[in-house]
Amino acid sequence: MLLNHNQSSLSFHSELYSFVPADHILRRVHEVVDFSFINDLVKDSYCVYYGRPANEPELLFRLLFLQFLYNLSDERVIEDSQYNLAYKWFLGLNPEDSLPDSSQLSRFRVHRLGANRVERVLEHIVKQCVENGLIQSQALIIDSTHTLANAAKDKPLDVLKKAANRLLKGLKKQYSNLYKMIPTYPKLEGTDKEKAIQLLQYLAELKDLLEEKLPDAEGSLLDKINIVKQIIEDERLLSHKGIASAVDPDARFGRKSKSRTFYGYKNHIAMTEEEIITAIHVTPGNEDDGKQLQTLVNKSTELQISIDEVLADTAYSRKDNLTFLQSEEIKASIPLSPAVYGTREEDKFQYDKENDEVICPAGHMSIRKAKTGRTGTANNPCLTFYFDTDICKQCPLREGCYNNTKEKTYSISIKSEEHKQQMAYLESDEYLQRKGVRSIIEHKNAELKNAHRMTRAKYRGQFGMRIQAFLTAFVVNVKRMIKLKDAFSQ
Ligand code: SF4
Repeated sequence: MLLNHNQSSLSFHSELYSFVPADHILRRVHEVVDFSFINDLVKDSYCVYYGRPANEPELLFRLLFLQFLYNLSDERVIEDSQYNLAYKWFLGLNPEDSLPDSSQLSRFRVHRLGANRVERVLEHIVKQCVENGLIQSQALIIDSTHTLANAAKDKPLDVLKKAANRLLKGLKKQYSNLYKMIPTYPKLEGTDKEKAIQLLQYLAELKDLLEEKLPDAEGSLLDKINIVKQIIEDERLLSHKGIASAVDPDARFGRKSKSRTFYGYKNHIAMTEEEIITAIHVTPGNEDDGKQLQTLVNKSTELQISIDEVLADTAYSRKDNLTFLQSEEIKASIPLSPAVYGTREEDKFQYDKENDEVICPAGHMSIRKAKTGRTGTANNPCLTFYFDTDICKQCPLREGCYNNTKEKTYSISIKSEEHKQQMAYLESDEYLQRKGVRSIIEHKNAELKNAHRMTRAKYRGQFGMRIQAFLTAFVVNVKRMIKLKDAFSQ
């Protein structure tokens, strides 16, 4: 099936395409984006002995593009493409041509693209933006946005029960003889924790047996064995801090605000000032944002994006990030967080990142903060947090903490040279003029979530989340590319 956008020479019915408006977004996408890179990208995933693939990779990738642009399921995008003239024109088919089966589309997404090649898809669109001269700024904005897992969260005992049931069912269906030989499911007794330990022992025994008897297991049964293996090896499972789903063992609890948690993934994003996403790194929801900065900067520079400034929030102001940016001669427009230079362990005050305040030993949060001391003087610059003295006066822990003074404060001094230099930069006019630029990434996060359903994972596991994140970023970049092209041509 050849892709052809001049169908009029091939099919009498192609005249119907004159009904697709000249300014239709799909005509603009076809004009602006070169999709042919996909043929080379996936060519190694096809077997050479079976010759050319039945449906060209570009056709299947264009279907994926439609799917992520319009938020359609595999079945729906195939069905709609059958009679939607704009879709069919975009796919390069004649109106009377048939479409591939939806299972072919999912096989292409999972096996041909997969979680590794899908990252190259984003790289290709960024390169096209660079080649078209659409990226002229040298600033990279970094942030993260969360996506809820496509799975319910369970208690450890339920995770184990579900993992065992799924594995036993799969085994019974595919290897009924072996199923008759496996150890009997244990009669669980005692507290939930004791029952969970009994199940863990059973699953460990079962896994060892299956690895011995079925060394070549593949497909869904292998997936189930691997999930059981992951669960058995998870040291945090019984403390409710590890795996919380037998169908999505990669998702984790993360924090999205002071009192709200989520169960799922974090998409760490780097974007240029022109709002082109240059890099994404997907992690479980509990991963620290600050740790991802160097990966995102490195991935962006590998795409020939020249960077002289990084804008990010306080979560990225770790000393190692500032040192890294300094060594790369990149300006760090990143406000400092006390979390990076730390509270003193012995006095039991703790920094609360979500609120950018400090919590005292009695559990009360500071009510305001101020910068005190100055850089370049004998006094180290400090961040001073103020507590409500009406509460302190009544506090059972006030002895040694509060002496009936007018104010109760807690100061954190800024110790490292990198942080002192950063503090000085943060007081400069240059930073004050630039700091507002960071907020444009919030529009991008909103677009990903509201227009392209990144609020919830479409697929399961980190593998699926990567596919969703990179394909969504591809689509969002294409939309932006069209806007930038239009703006440059005016
Ligand atoms: S005295 Fe005030 S700051 Fe100290 S522990 Fe009590 S409430 Fe917290």
